[in-house]
Amino acid sequence: MSSASHDTIAAPATPTGASALAVVRVSGPDCARLAGAIFGETPPPRLAVHQDYRAQDGRLLDDIVATFYAGPNSFTGEDTLELSLHGNPVIVQLVLDDLFKRGCRPAEPGEFTRRAFLNGRMDLAQAEAVMEVIGARSERALAAAQRQLRGGLGRHLSQVQDKLLQGLAQVEAYIDFPEEDLPPEDREAVGGVLADVLRGTQRLLATERYGDLLREGIKTVILGAPNAGKSSLLNQLVGRERALVSPEPGTTRDYIEEYIQLGPIGLKLVDTAGLNPTPGELERRGMAKTHERVAAADLILLVLDATLPCPALADDIQSYLRPDRTLVVLNKVDLLDPAAGTTAEPPAGLPVVRLSALTGAGLEELIAAVTRLADALQPDFGDEEILTINARHADALRRAIQAMVHAEEHLRTDGPVELMASDLREALMALGEIAGKFDNEAMLDRLFASFCIGK
Ligand code: GDP
Repeated sequence: MSSASHDTIAAPATPTGASALAVVRVSGPDCARLAGAIFGETPPPRLAVHQDYRAQDGRLLDDIVATFYAGPNSFTGEDTLELSLHGNPVIVQLVLDDLFKRGCRPAEPGEFTRRAFLNGRMDLAQAEAVMEVIGARSERALAAAQRQLRGGLGRHLSQVQDKLLQGLAQVEAYIDFPEEDLPPEDREAVGGVLADVLRGTQRLLATERYGDLLREGIKTVILGAPNAGKSSLLNQLVGRERALVSPEPGTTRDYIEEYIQLGPIGLKLVDTAGLNPTPGELERRGMAKTHERVAAADLILLVLDATLPCPALADDIQSYLRPDRTLVVLNKVDLLDPAAGTTAEPPAGLPVVRLSALTGAGLEELIAAVTRLADALQPDFGDEEILTINARHADALRRAIQAMVHAEEHLRTDGPVELMASDLREALMALGEIAGKFDNEAMLDRLFASFCIGK
């Protein structure tokens, strides 16, 4: 991919389709001249101006609002033009065609953000966060992406790198004096730094799973006896007739998966087979799947029919029902005689909410309880800002940890300082990849290719 910033690039920044507005973004050294040619003069920076957009041949294409940003005070760090057009794909295409005739070239996927990174407007983790912010499917996922966009991860890592650099300096001071061994006090100091940095790095690595949960949704299994109301609950949560609700027991024979946004969180919901004590062949197969799903679940909603005694639960299922990831949903409370109370006696020690999946009464309490359990899945960062990482960051962290563990071994076994220093440098390089304080064209190509055009 050519990242030559002497090119001026143009692309739509909004999706195609009819809408009130469509934005075309232009970035590069030719923006001021282009604006002058199209509008008669370059608008003052950061001032939205209402203009006629006339093509090179004089045709009026649209009346628009244009904003000129003078570099380096723009998203990309270059001169940039943002054109707000009427949201009609025909207008967008006409304007783009005109811009290409005037010398712009189409932007490649992620090229605006790539330029922002190359021009030092953001680090690599922030550049990735642009995509995360755009793609976040829940309030919690959005908050994590926004923390990353504000540079939280890069800041955290640069503190870690500073500490490691200190350790490296202490070790390197002895490289030129091979006859001298690292004195015990320096050995202790470097060991202390390493232990501290390793702890922090491992804690950061542990956030990968929560990061995945935010991106993909918290895997939630709906479990319960046939007819308890699992499908009805699923329908309430999904808000439409996704599962067939039937008064016949055992109709949900397989499972279906659905991403839903529930309050501030995203769930990947799995509706399972019932826990029928005398299953037929088809249900037996469904039940084997249920066990698999329950074992892999982050969250279990155990649906009980409040008008019936609690069904016997198989031992292996019961072992999965821990209070930190199980919510008992006492369903059909609309059928209860208020004076008589419930018949079902939920397993002890688990949080319970009362619900009518038929009327929706109790849904708010259910959402609040699920949110509490989901939020408790966040890694504990004490008073510090919660960070989450992605697979690329995790890979770099694993390499950094491995190098630090090697350095620790050398330290423990009185190994040569050269090897210690080389391990510490390797750890620093790996950590540096996360925020992108190094230049690797191939890696940047891969990363930005996953963006969409116009970002
Ligand atoms: P599943 O087999 O666990 O998926 O149960 P369904 O969702 O198919 O529900 C079984 C039957 O119970 C259906 O006739 C539902 O209409 C009914 N049902 C489910 N939830 C409630 C509820 O909260 N109140 C009442 N009165 N009926 C319900």
